[in-house]
Amino acid sequence: MFTEEKRLSGGKLKIMDKSEQELSSNVVLTKLDKFIGWARSYSLWPYIFGTACCGVEFMSVPAAHYDTDRFGAAWPRYTPRQADMLMIIGTITNKQAPVLRRIWEQMAEPKWVVAIGACAVSGGFYRNYATVQGCDRIIPVDVYIPGCPPRPEMIVDGIIKLQEKVRNSKQVF
Ligand code: SF4
Repeated sequence: MFTEEKRLSGGKLKIMDKSEQELSSNVVLTKLDKFIGWARSYSLWPYIFGTACCGVEFMSVPAAHYDTDRFGAAWPRYTPRQADMLMIIGTITNKQAPVLRRIWEQMAEPKWVVAIGACAVSGGFYRNYATVQGCDRIIPVDVYIPGCPPRPEMIVDGIIKLQEKVRNSKQVF
């Protein structure tokens, strides 16, 4: 019978016959939680809440050069009910706050929020009565991306950080 030697992690040698070789190269063992986290991290459905200049800067991110399709996060949904990643891009005024809150409530569970740009993160330089001083005053935020506006590379980095968070979270299903 055709056999092969395989070195185990402890340094020991294991002799494997053909059926064992086929099993080891075709079967993957993992935990359901890890598997669901891995699948969810590569199928993020963004809802774009763009309100100001950061939104214009963001337009290049899903396009060919930065290509968020590589991360499974490129296809924007036009209804919050089909989205699980809310991207808040730009200044949020007090008048917009209830709308943003309602959109977040309409999104499917589990859902994640990314605040993009200084205005979404903290109100930016708008220290006035009309501007929300950070969208985490209205809804929970998972990833904060600073900058005025942030470079596309920073947004890609934020998506990668969110993917890590999704993969390593306790999965609800
Ligand atoms: S952070 Fe800067 S670029 Fe972005 S919305 Fe605010 S003022 Fe505009």
